[in-house]
Amino acid sequence: MYYNISFDIAAILVLIVIAVGMKTVLYTDTPGHKLVCRYVYSVIACASIDIVTAYTICYGSMVPDFVNVILNTLYQYSSVLCVAVAMRLILNYFPSASKVSVMINRVLLYLLAGFVTVNIFTGWMFRFENGVYIHGDLYLIAYVLSLLIVLHMLFVVVLNRNDQKGVIFKLIILFLFLPTIFTVIQMFMGNVLLITFGEAFSALMMLFALETPDYRKLMRTMKELDDAKEDANVANRAKSDFLASMSHEIRTPLNGILGMNTMILKDSKDPQITEYAENIRVAGNGLLSIINDILDVTKIESGKLEIRPDNYDLLSVMNECYQMNRLRAVDKGLDFKFINDPGMPAGYYGDEVRIRQIMNNLVSNGVKYTKKGSVKMEVEYLRSNDDDKIEGGRPGNLIITVTDTGIGIKEEDLDSLFERFNRLDELTNRHVEGTGLGLYITQRLVHMMDGSIDVESIYGKGTVFIARIPQKVTDPAHAGDFNERMKEKTNVENIETEDVDASGKKVLVVDDTNINLLVFKGLIRDTGVSLDTALSGAEAITMTQKTKYDLIFMDYLMPEMNGVEAFHKIRDDQDNPNRETPTIVLTANAVVGAREQYLAEGFAEYLSKPVKQAELVAMIEHFLVPEEGNGSPAD
Ligand code: ADP
Repeated sequence: MYYNISFDIAAILVLIVIAVGMKTVLYTDTPGHKLVCRYVYSVIACASIDIVTAYTICYGSMVPDFVNVILNTLYQYSSVLCVAVAMRLILNYFPSASKVSVMINRVLLYLLAGFVTVNIFTGWMFRFENGVYIHGDLYLIAYVLSLLIVLHMLFVVVLNRNDQKGVIFKLIILFLFLPTIFTVIQMFMGNVLLITFGEAFSALMMLFALETPDYRKLMRTMKELDDAKEDANVANRAKSDFLASMSHEIRTPLNGILGMNTMILKDSKDPQITEYAENIRVAGNGLLSIINDILDVTKIESGKLEIRPDNYDLLSVMNECYQMNRLRAVDKGLDFKFINDPGMPAGYYGDEVRIRQIMNNLVSNGVKYTKKGSVKMEVEYLRSNDDDKIEGGRPGNLIITVTDTGIGIKEEDLDSLFERFNRLDELTNRHVEGTGLGLYITQRLVHMMDGSIDVESIYGKGTVFIARIPQKVTDPAHAGDFNERMKEKTNVENIETEDVDASGKKVLVVDDTNINLLVFKGLIRDTGVSLDTALSGAEAITMTQKTKYDLIFMDYLMPEMNGVEAFHKIRDDQDNPNRETPTIVLTANAVVGAREQYLAEGFAEYLSKPVKQAELVAMIEHFLVPEEGNGSPAD
């Protein structure tokens, strides 16, 4: 029998060069480097023994069989050693591999080594007869075990692929399979010994690809960058969470303060006290809007702010914005005008709250930065060429133009106008309160709705903001003239608020803050209802078991048992007389779309905090005052 050992010799030469290189110019002090060195040494040992066994088998008749068995057994042991080191080398690149995987790998290696040992006595794997190599009856077990080791490692590598991505991952897979491929080739080549050459080849690849000092340095730097990025993200998230929860925490007591202040404004006959309370109202509302801005920015930056579209009536949105800014404008002696195209459609599909916020930010800036003259908002709708009633058609644009005759903006400042926390002209504006967040939020909101916003300004003369926001039309009827509609509406509203009389009706309000209960009491005092209060969900449950109420107001956020849980407990209790009582949820978390969620929970309505008297009275009227034609919930 003759074996071609030239590939073994080539492998040894290559491996010696690698070993020398790794100990000198390529030296790095890493576990990977050490393992590659060990791998190189074990392959050198394996290849050397392979040459010797090939030699003794060639001259088999001159060598006793037991010597051949010993040499071949040594060769098999060294092969198992090579595989063991190779597997450890691979595991080194996959630190997430579980302990169980490592254990399975070890067990398979021990089984293989055990089989080689058992073979000395049984000849199940191979034996020699008269110097001739003969396969044992169970020699396939060795192949199956080797294959299992490779497949198991492939499984581990794929399972933990997040540890190494891209080229490195592919190289490791190649490293895993190269010796196997060479083994298969050797099976077909008969007497050419190729396996150790395959192993030398894979060691070379490992060296060039993974274990050079430059590569290690690059990996280290990349890891440091990754860690730094992660740290920054964690810090940023912590900041956002902190801001969000702080804003929320501040809103709750502030709502109490503003609510109590409303009571003072309502009850006080002393003009001096009324003036103080009015100042509290202005400052408190300012603070509330700053907190809301901070909450919005936090939500925008953490990607949590969503546009939640629904059907809405444009003139109502304009009206709310008008009411919010009119007093301040009139106080400053400004000519304050809202104008719309009476022929424009009345109803649209979009995020009403955000549209109002955009209008409000632009108008309130106009009022803030104008000392004399006028602030004007014009609204029109430009239909698109497509018919927007057809599904998928391009919607037309709602165009909101806010013009003021105020201080204007310097040309060089226009570019940075929409940056957050950017306040221009600090010297001139130092008496004007603001955070520099309004326009940033406005622009982001407009962009989120696929719209655009532009500004034109002449410093010292005035400013024009134009927002174009695509909105679908849901009610094509003419909207009518804003100023006409508003006159009618104010009259109707006044009558409604004055007239509500629900005396004799029993109402329960549940809130964990005493001050909120007091405010609530004051706000509905004139409606004549008899009001019970509960400070927790548990207390509310006990009270509802004893008394039948006509209406329940339930705070959402309460310690121990929140409003939704308490509500469900009341509903699910067969003996509770209030199972069917309409329940209105109160929440400071004025998230858009929340109403639908609460209605889906089973609540009859939703009221956002701070509770406004007009809204509250409207609800009392809707739920407690039987009136002809009063069928649908107040919206
Ligand atoms: P702020 O809370 O300071 O009003 P904004 O983001 O709303 O924050 O506005 C950013 C800056 O842009 C303001 O500080 C002001 O200098 C300028 N600005 C905004 N609107 C106007 C306007 N209508 N006229 C003049 N300057 C304006």
